[in-house]
Amino acid sequence: VQLPETSVDTRSAAAFARAREVIPGGVNSPVRAFLSVGGTPRFIARAQGPYLYDVDGNELVDLICSWGPMLLGHAHPEVLGAVAEAAQHGTSYGAPTQAEVDLAAAIVDRTPVEMVRLVNSGTEATMSVLRLARGITGRDKIVKFAGCYHGHVDSLLAAAGSGVATLAIPGTPGVTESTTADTIVLQYNDRAAVREAFATYGDSIACLITEAACGNMGVVPPGVEDGVGFNTFLSDICHAHGALFISDEVMTGFRVTASGWHGVDGVVPDLMTFGKVMGGGFPAAAFGGRAELMHSLAPVGGVYQAGTLSGNPVATSAGLTTLRLATPEVYAHVDRASALLQREVHDALDAASVPHVIQSAGNMFSVFFVGEDVDAVPDYATASTQVTTRYSAFFHSMLDHGVYLPPSAYESWFLSSAHDDRALDRVVSALPAAAAAAAGV
Ligand code: PMP
Repeated sequence: VQLPETSVDTRSAAAFARAREVIPGGVNSPVRAFLSVGGTPRFIARAQGPYLYDVDGNELVDLICSWGPMLLGHAHPEVLGAVAEAAQHGTSYGAPTQAEVDLAAAIVDRTPVEMVRLVNSGTEATMSVLRLARGITGRDKIVKFAGCYHGHVDSLLAAAGSGVATLAIPGTPGVTESTTADTIVLQYNDRAAVREAFATYGDSIACLITEAACGNMGVVPPGVEDGVGFNTFLSDICHAHGALFISDEVMTGFRVTASGWHGVDGVVPDLMTFGKVMGGGFPAAAFGGRAELMHSLAPVGGVYQAGTLSGNPVATSAGLTTLRLATPEVYAHVDRASALLQREVHDALDAASVPHVIQSAGNMFSVFFVGEDVDAVPDYATASTQVTTRYSAFFHSMLDHGVYLPPSAYESWFLSSAHDDRALDRVVSALPAAAAAAAGV
C-alpha cells in the first residue's frame, strides 16, 4: 500500500510522520491509520467522559469508545480509583489473586458459562477456545462466517473459497494454506450454506464460531426465520453433528445487556469468548463454558494454555469495577442514546436523499451507504456493496465538526453512559453537513 503524503501542519500530522518512522504505517492496529477514509489520524492526548482530546487541543465526541470497552466513558473516577489502588499493591505477580477470582465469578454470574479462563486479548481468547474445542472433540475443522472478525488468529484470517462449502484460502500473506485448509468460511445468516457444510464435513467439524451478533462488517444481527433465531439454528446443527457451538461475545459481552447478546436471544453456547468491556480499558479477556468442557484445560486436563500477565491485578480491578458499575441505568441510558442517534442519522440522510440502511444489535449500530435497492444487510457480500467514498465524506465532515466516528465503513458505532445531552447535541448538529457531504459523492 502506498501511504498518502501528509503535510505536517498539525501536531497530529507531525506525530504521524514520526510514528511512521518507527511503527509500520504509524499505528499498532491497522484501522487506526485512516487508510480507508483517507487523511491524517488524530493522535489522542487524553480522554474524559464522552470526549477525546487530540494533541492539537480539539475536543471530539467519541463514538468509538476504544472499539467497545469504554461503556462508562473515559477516565471514570471510580475505575481510576480502583486502578490506582491496585497498582499501589504491585502491578503483576504471576501468582493467583483473589481479585481474579472475583472477576471470573462476576463473568460467571452474568453469563451462561460455568467457568472462565482469563487471558489478555480477544485474539487470545478465540485462539485458545479453538484449541480447546479441537482438543475436546479430537476433530480438526472449524466453521466461521465471512465478515465475522475474531481477532488475528491464523486459522481465522481466512477468506471464503469459491463455492459454498469449500475450504478457505489464507486471508493474509503469512497464513499457510495448510492452516486454513481446516477452516470453512460461509456467508452469515445463510442457513442453506451451513446445512451443506455440515452435510459434507459434519464428522470432522470440531466447532463453529460466530460473533453473537456481528459488529465487524458494520452491524449485522442474526436473522430470525420461522421464529427460529440464527444462533439457535447454529447451536442445534452443531449438536446434531457432535460439534461445539462457540459464541464470540468479545464485542457484545457486557455491552448490549448486562450479559451481552445472550441477554437478548437467550441461546446457551457450549463455549464463549469475552473481552473489551470486561477489561475496563485494560488488556483483559476470557473464554469459558460448561465446567465439564473447561476441565479439559491444563492443569486439570491436557489442553495447554497459559499467560504471564493473565489475570493481571491492575486489568482485573479495572474490569471488575466496570462490571460493578454497569447498572441497568447504564444500559438504559446507552440504549436511549443509541436509539436517538439512529433516528437523527436516518432523518439527516433522508433529508439529503442519501440512500442508506441503519442496522443495530442492541445499542450497537452502524450506517451502510448501500444502493437504493438494498433495504437490509444480512451478510458480508451485501455489506461489501457499500459506497465507501460516501462514508469517507460523511466521516470527515463529522470529524471537522468535532465528532470521532470509526475510520471505516465496516465498524460499529459505540456509545457510553457518559454521552450526555451536550455530547449528543454536538453529534446531532453535525449531521446535516455530513449528510450533505455524503450526498455530494
Ligand atoms: N472477537 C470480536 C468479536 C472482536 O470484535 C474482536 C476485536 N474487535 C476480537 C475478537 C479480537 O479482540 P482483540 O482485538 O482484543 O484481540
